[in-house]
Amino acid sequence: MSAFLSDGLARNFVAGEWAEGDDGAVIAVEDPATEDHFADCAKASEASVATALDAARASFDRGDLADMQPSARGRLMLRVAQEIRGIANEGAQLLCRESGKTLDAAFDEFEEAAQYFEYYGGVADKIEGKSIPLGPDYADYTVFEPFGVSAQIVPWNFPVSIAARSLAPSMAAGNSTIIKSPELDPVGLALLGTALERADVPAGAVSILNGIGPDIGAKLVASSQIDQIVFTGSVPTGQAILRAAAEQVTPSLMELGGKSAAVVFEDADLDTFIASLKSGIFYNAGQVCSAMARVLVHRSIYEEAVERAAALANGLSIGHGLDNPDHTPVISALQLSRIEELASTARQDGARVAAGGSRLDRKGHFMAPTILADVNPSSRVAQEEIFGPVTCMTPFETEGEAIAMANGTEFGLVAGVFTRDLARSHRVARKLRAGQVFVNEWFAGGISTPFGGVGKSGFGREKGLEALYNYVRTKNIAISLKG
Ligand code: NAD
Repeated sequence: MSAFLSDGLARNFVAGEWAEGDDGAVIAVEDPATEDHFADCAKASEASVATALDAARASFDRGDLADMQPSARGRLMLRVAQEIRGIANEGAQLLCRESGKTLDAAFDEFEEAAQYFEYYGGVADKIEGKSIPLGPDYADYTVFEPFGVSAQIVPWNFPVSIAARSLAPSMAAGNSTIIKSPELDPVGLALLGTALERADVPAGAVSILNGIGPDIGAKLVASSQIDQIVFTGSVPTGQAILRAAAEQVTPSLMELGGKSAAVVFEDADLDTFIASLKSGIFYNAGQVCSAMARVLVHRSIYEEAVERAAALANGLSIGHGLDNPDHTPVISALQLSRIEELASTARQDGARVAAGGSRLDRKGHFMAPTILADVNPSSRVAQEEIFGPVTCMTPFETEGEAIAMANGTEFGLVAGVFTRDLARSHRVARKLRAGQVFVNEWFAGGISTPFGGVGKSGFGREKGLEALYNYVRTKNIAISLKG
């Protein structure tokens, strides 16, 4: 274990130092598979927030990152990537225990985090402006400037990889960054501070605060000392943050929830679809913003698809994440109750429970892998984000009907099309109201492909080159050459 955890306490990483909370205040972290206390995390004090804000501003004003040679900034980020790989095994153990996810998935978060630093480190010296022709009397060009201090609020479902997803482009652009970790699983993310420290990231350029959302998170986003907000989380929290942002007119990036649909046509390869369903709704116990939360299937293959989906759900191995089973617990007792409550409304609304439907009778926050069939598209379970291992299946007759149903929620994060008909895949992909469309493989794409929502799924994009431009603003410089 690294030094900061040797006494079982994950501290805040503030201005290059490890800080405890006021009067030893801690957040108790539970193992969701056993319900046992797993670790304590020092709760950031108001003083820590103030220190992080002052240090971030001072670092930015000194030009620690912004005035560094862009290629040197890129190399610094590659060192961070290397240090993240160095902590990945230890980090995966911690993240697995606190989040309930599998050890492999936890390790993948650190690997993905390293890849974000490599990807954006590689473009740190390629953030190029353009020159604009105004005739012989003027020289005109644009430059991309960092915002200043970026406040980033991270959710618990992928705390390490989502933190890196926003931090890496923010650093590549030259911003100072303050991260607020999720209170349910802050320990693995706290370890990221070790990688930043070992890579010699300038003190204050990045801080990581542990704290309760409506307390420390709300203070951070309402501060007049920040220049940008990046929020990944639920719609209600996003709305609260946007209200705070409105007060200071703080530019904001919102990555919110989803209720994404796969459309499975009659010519789809069902083996391919079932393989996608397995990761689409059961990876991370369905706690994925871009989960395959709805499945619309052509009526001619609908019963077969429901039967196979139910067999998949019933056949998943279940256990502690450390053993890498197919299915793991959800993050907390509260989350399990929410999932179970929403799933239970399905029956009253006329749906058939093809598999699962309720919590498992065992210790830990385990929801049974659940397939709901004949779901009414306007019912609560088909409209609200469940954020658990539950998908809703509904038959359709025509392509137009499928598209209307897929687009029929207030969300629009991702969508999927399963068909062997190339023309249809393009046609339908264009009509789906979503920031990303997967064809014949759910979660196709990766760190280099832009990701983000429409409607209540949010605005702005993460991942890929596209995301970089969310972390800079354009300045135009117009020079008269007359006289
Ligand atoms: P949440 O909104 O409850 O919390 C997210 C973060 O916001 C946490 O760090 C929390 O402490 C903080 N927070 C809470 N209230 C706050 C406030 N008033 N001010 C500032 N910060 C505050 O979300 P969650 O339950 O952690 O995550 C699940 C949600 O996140 C789901 O809706 C999911 O779809 C969404 N999500 C979206 C994406 C995406 O990229 N679009 C990715 C992952 C998760």
